[in-house]
Amino acid sequence: METAGVEITIDKSRCRYSMYDPLGCKRCLATCPLAIFATRPVQKRDFNRPLEEVVDPTLWELLTPWQDMCNGCGACVRACPTQAITVKIDGKAIS
Ligand code: SF4
Ligand code: SF4
Repeated sequence: METAGVEITIDKSRCRYSMYDPLGCKRCLATCPLAIFATRPVQKRDFNRPLEEVVDPTLWELLTPWQDMCNGCGACVRACPTQAITVKIDGKAIS
């Protein structure tokens, strides 16, 4: 069920997500019951460009592409070890 007025913000200066570091954090991804979070490479690969212009495949970022489906349970906020996530429902932050 879609929740109106949801806004999820990730403070990237606090987030410790890492695709390749086995010790990198993935708690929000593992915790969210609705799989709101997702990841993707920072730079897009363009196969038409020469090989020497290949992008760095080790750089990934955390996104919230399904945030309009968030139910406001707050599990990700509580699970985040660095307080990097803010979830607001109709402008009010949940904890
Ligand atoms: S508040 Fe709950 S449903 Fe919303 S993104 Fe966080 S864990 Fe997922
Ligand atoms: S739980 Fe917090 S630190 Fe960990 S990946 Fe999610 S936003 Fe980043």
